[in-house]
Amino acid sequence: ENRPRNLFAMLEEAARKYPEHEALVMNGVRLTYKETHDKVLEIAGNLQSSLCVKKGDRVALLLGNSIEFSLLVFACAKLGAIFVPLNTRLKENELSYMLQQSGSKILFVDDEFLETVESMRDSSSIDSIQNFFLIGNKTPKRKDYLPFEILEQPASVTEFPVSEDDPLFIMYTSGTTGLPKGAVGSHIGAIHSSINYETVFKTTHKAKTLIAVPLFHVTGLIGQLFHMVRVGGTSVIIRRFKTEEFIRLTVEERVTFLFNVPTIYVMMMAHQEFSLYSYTNVNCIAYGGAPMSTETIYKLKKYFPNAYLQNAYGATETSSPATLMPRSYSDAKFQSVGMPVPVGELKVVNDNDELCPPGEVGELLIKGPMVVEGYWDNEAANQTSFVDGFWRSGDLAKMDEDGFVYIVDRKKDLINRGGEKIFSIEVENVLYNHPKVHEAAVLGVPDAIFGEVVKAVIVPKNQEVIDPQEIKDFVAERLANYKVPKLIEFVSELPRNPGGKVLKNALKNLQS
Ligand code: ATP
Repeated sequence: ENRPRNLFAMLEEAARKYPEHEALVMNGVRLTYKETHDKVLEIAGNLQSSLCVKKGDRVALLLGNSIEFSLLVFACAKLGAIFVPLNTRLKENELSYMLQQSGSKILFVDDEFLETVESMRDSSSIDSIQNFFLIGNKTPKRKDYLPFEILEQPASVTEFPVSEDDPLFIMYTSGTTGLPKGAVGSHIGAIHSSINYETVFKTTHKAKTLIAVPLFHVTGLIGQLFHMVRVGGTSVIIRRFKTEEFIRLTVEERVTFLFNVPTIYVMMMAHQEFSLYSYTNVNCIAYGGAPMSTETIYKLKKYFPNAYLQNAYGATETSSPATLMPRSYSDAKFQSVGMPVPVGELKVVNDNDELCPPGEVGELLIKGPMVVEGYWDNEAANQTSFVDGFWRSGDLAKMDEDGFVYIVDRKKDLINRGGEKIFSIEVENVLYNHPKVHEAAVLGVPDAIFGEVVKAVIVPKNQEVIDPQEIKDFVAERLANYKVPKLIEFVSELPRNPGGKVLKNALKNLQS
């Protein structure tokens, strides 16, 4: 096989084949593949010579979507350093855990998140970080932030081998214990996923995507950025999704390939500006990260008659896609998430890990080079999440006679709010620390825009009356805003089965 031997080599290939093609576009800056390649080498050279970044070092990124973000991930790949993209919505205590757990040596932050980093540093809980880089114009309280510009000086890289099995990133996902787990993705996983997208979506160098989902998640990073580099296509980048800007740029930039969580399409089509334009350049609309309603599918078909609708099911642990919908079946099998990716092996098993026959629902297990090698420094999670090289997805699925996969439900106690995943236990743990809370259960309830939102059902201590806002504020101080319960209901006791387990399904049906 002649696939690139590491992620940087994939960029090198694009720069060789399409030197003058636009690779990265944002806010009036337009970089060709040659320029991108050269800048990445410069940054890598400076990181290596001035900051002694070596193979295996962890480099954390607390950045909104940007050209710098994109350049840095390839520079790390060149050096064999492991980048740690952090979810910018998280609060200080959540972030400092990830920085410490990963032992990150360098932290890149942009203006918007400087304050968060400054207060993290006040509580001095991130002592593994030796260098801080600030991207932007703000004046920080401390004087030791290095400017990004010093990485843009001429510099060469001392070569040494980076192989496809080397780790490429650590991406934190929420965990069943309430603590985040760092999924360790490899170069080969990212490369295979990019090739899988190229093969199934039939993408070429003519593709142009609009990245509005975060680059710190796999859909933006691999499904769009890496995928475009693989084919020599263009990534137009938006710092953060805003409906109007998204619509405008889709039209202005003649975007051909959209890939988003369903919530973005729902918001896009509900916007007053939406129907003012036609979207004739869009020829592929991919979606994933959460189930999409039939209504949204029909609407997309109506407004984008020239586009194939392609479902992509996957997870951080599968470096993005585990199944993809082939074009020719997207109508006939529209309720399916598609077929296993070319290099993937999927199976549906029952509670005893025995194979289920077609049509029977069980847990979906996923194997292949795109599956991450495990969780960073977390033997316990590695033991429970992987079996014989298969990753346990925690999703309940069935496969039909033709090999198409259908996601039916979830085994894991997780809430999927517009693609952001929240393990109930994480929010429950916080609620249990509130002095007036006796018991609490957290669950997802349906929402027209986000698919699901967080709901907390609380038994107050001594039947005390609690102001719901007090609970929301308490959670918001400790967890990212998207994890804060939108709905709160007070009850005198939680429904439990004879074994004492809270019956969350019964709670779903409560009126609030
Ligand atoms: P991203 O984080 O970029 O949104 P992701 O959603 O693929 O990527 P995770 O955040 O790790 O990755 O979430 C994985 C979970 O999301 C799956 O286990 C499944 O529950 C849900 N999911 C992902 N894709 C789909 C899909 N196409 N249809 C239904 N559920 C999906």
